[in-house]
Amino acid sequence: MDFRRIKGLLVSLVIGIPILLIFYFSLNYFGNIWWLPFATIMFFISVVLSQIFPILIFPIFYKITPIENEELKERITKLARDANLKVENVYKFNMSKNTKKANAAFTGLGRTKRIILGDTLLENYSTEEIETVIAHELGHFKKKHIIKNILIGTISSFLTLFIIALLYQNSLSLFGFREITQVAALPLLGLWSMLIGLIQAPLGNVLSRKFEYEADEYAIFETKNPSAFKKTLEKLTEQNFGDKEPHPFVEWFFYSHPSIKNRISAIDKFAEEHNLNLHSESELKLVDPL
Ligand SMILES: [Zn+2]
Repeated sequence: MDFRRIKGLLVSLVIGIPILLIFYFSLNYFGNIWWLPFATIMFFISVVLSQIFPILIFPIFYKITPIENEELKERITKLARDANLKVENVYKFNMSKNTKKANAAFTGLGRTKRIILGDTLLENYSTEEIETVIAHELGHFKKKHIIKNILIGTISSFLTLFIIALLYQNSLSLFGFREITQVAALPLLGLWSMLIGLIQAPLGNVLSRKFEYEADEYAIFETKNPSAFKKTLEKLTEQNFGDKEPHPFVEWFFYSHPSIKNRISAIDKFAEEHNLNLHSESELKLVDPL
């Protein structure tokens, strides 16, 4: 077992064990309404975790350093300014030590953000391509997806836990159990959670894909460079070993992001409607030989 795996295991234990204890305490102490205190505490834990994750947890696994490419930093800062966000700094992290995949993230609540780019993105993508990735992420902010996700996520976690608690409580006797706190009955609770999760997952994905299309539209509207964005998506799909054309049902059920085929046709349609094909392929080659 390598050191990184041990770190991963330790972090999940430090987070997971208290959650398990809180869960069992809620069940013992509050009886049938255990879901309410549990969902409330989980809400606060997730707020705290999202705050400390980039500062305390992420650096356990990756080395984060400011990027040296001043031109890229300048362009990213400008894009962010257009979206009413201030950039504290642009960093890179050594994502390549774990994967070939590329990614970028924004961290920090409020209007001042840290932008973190995977070194895999910096090494394999041109400045224009990276700009489209950043513009897409900015689109999520600009269209208020982050806050919507937090709101919907909170409401749905309360609702789901309520439904699971209800199903669990009412099915206990069918399996010969008497108390919700019986350890032997807990797999039943797990089963209900799985079933509800199975219904919830595709619904969440429908919304997530809608948000992705909106962020894509923002990205091409801001960069006016649909061809660079399409190239980026193709490269990302290639690197992430994504299925380019999944069965429509598989996409509907499992995909949090639309398939590349659907994303590209939506981009083409949007660019066409808004007359955004300003950079033709040949023009791009002249401007940017990468
Ligand atoms: Zn996105």
